[in-house]
Amino acid sequence: MNLVVGAGLGGLAVSIRLAACGESVTVFEGNSYPGGKATVFDLNGYRFDAGPSLFTLPEQVDALFELADRNPREYFNYSKQSEACRYFWNDGDRFQAVSDPETFAENVSRHFGETSEAVLDYLSQAAVSYKSLGKIFLKKSLHRADTWISKPVLEAIPQVRVSDLWHSMHTQNSKAFENPKVIQLFNRFATYNGSDPYRAPGLMTMIPHLEHGVGTFFPQGGIHAITESLFKLALDLGVRFEFNAPVSKIVCQTDGSVSGLEVQGSLYSGERVISNMDVVPTYRQLLPHIKAPEKTLAQERSTSALIFYWGIRDSFRELGLHNIFFTEDYQAEFRDLFENKRIHEDPTVYIHISNKCKIEDAPSGCENWFVMVNAPHDRETDWDEVVPRIKKQILGKLTRLLERDIASLIECEEILTPLRIEQRTQSFKGALYGAASNNPFAAFLRHPNKARKPDGLFFVGGSVHPGGGIPLVLNSAEITADLIGREKRRA
Ligand code: FAD
Repeated sequence: MNLVVGAGLGGLAVSIRLAACGESVTVFEGNSYPGGKATVFDLNGYRFDAGPSLFTLPEQVDALFELADRNPREYFNYSKQSEACRYFWNDGDRFQAVSDPETFAENVSRHFGETSEAVLDYLSQAAVSYKSLGKIFLKKSLHRADTWISKPVLEAIPQVRVSDLWHSMHTQNSKAFENPKVIQLFNRFATYNGSDPYRAPGLMTMIPHLEHGVGTFFPQGGIHAITESLFKLALDLGVRFEFNAPVSKIVCQTDGSVSGLEVQGSLYSGERVISNMDVVPTYRQLLPHIKAPEKTLAQERSTSALIFYWGIRDSFRELGLHNIFFTEDYQAEFRDLFENKRIHEDPTVYIHISNKCKIEDAPSGCENWFVMVNAPHDRETDWDEVVPRIKKQILGKLTRLLERDIASLIECEEILTPLRIEQRTQSFKGALYGAASNNPFAAFLRHPNKARKPDGLFFVGGSVHPGGGIPLVLNSAEITADLIGREKRRA
């Protein structure tokens, strides 16, 4: 019996993978619903996806249905977006970034004065790095020797730009482009996993390949359709779920191997435990008797977020599905987030409006705005003081740049703080993506998908290898299920 702690996307995906191989699986979820961060809520006729908004690499969701011999289209559908993101700057400048690399390069050249060759060269290097290194860093356990003596590694080594290992993403972007706005645009891809572009390694310049190579997608039904369809698939495969069931302890035998879970005073036996709970509280709360891997747990966490969900009584033609309103001084913003542990005075504002693609997400003539600013991973902040102050700053910025009084258009509001994120999902300090990639070794220092001790304990999800974000969490489920399969075959 496999016992899974948590029904986030990682917990759902690993359960599906195990059940598809004939394993019996029971999932214990502390909340009353599946999906963890990828949840949903309704407010006064508006529908909001509470967490993730940007969807890339849909084939990884499809793969779960295919593995279970099901037609993905009977559960889950999506469409490719021709537009990637709309960018806004404080000086009133605006830029609409399309997905298609050639058109994007031409537009960047026309708008910002970079050469289209420079943009295409940058994107083709991103594609090379993604295709070669992605196979290793995102698809394999980095903690197994056979990963390092495999064909993909030998093929990838010559493709690595050595300077990408030692220079920051910002340095590499500054070498590639002249215009500070273009550099800022490419620096923002560090936020894909909540990292600081001024410290994250140049290797992360492969990320734009996702938006301007592979493309971005919108699930039919919104992001929560991913959670719903995976939950349905898991049920169809016989996975059992216990909701409102917070796990309080991982129970171990005297020989040091796991024997089950304690949930609300009851014991459940199992030969294997897979924790989808953040790795830090897994050790601190569920395994206080085990010596924790302190160096790994001490890795700097990713950014968190402060989110305002606003029902807006108007519509904005100048806004798209994804919109970014940049700060003037991006470096100062990241310094504030990681060093000063505060939200920057003029924060970069991201607005996601799902009813641009799914009209019924807001009443007629209205829009559902998911308004997010980067926040530090943190437990100390007095959010009662910060929330109204930051809200005022955001409203001032948007009112000025959109030339409409936004405050008067807000019909209803919900707020999510880093503290609430931690309370709802147990993510350590409210970090959105587990450990940040703020140094070249971060990928190697993330917690592996199998614990050294106790035997029989595995991990899945954004706080362990290969990291956070929907695609990587689904990768982690594949790696974890593969490790379990290997161990079973050896036994
Ligand atoms: P979680 O979703 O955190 O799930 C963990 C689950 O375990 C939770 O349901 C929790 O209740 C449960 N649990 C924890 N402890 C226990 C316990 N002791 N007992 C029982 N159950 C327990 N990713 C993207 O790809 N694109 C985006 O645009 C994006 N934007 C984001 C915006 C926000 C605001 C947030 C919060 C996240 C965003 N992400 C995005 C990140 C993405 O949501 C996460 O990486 C992913 O959903 C994490 O999945 P998970 O399974 O690792 O963990």
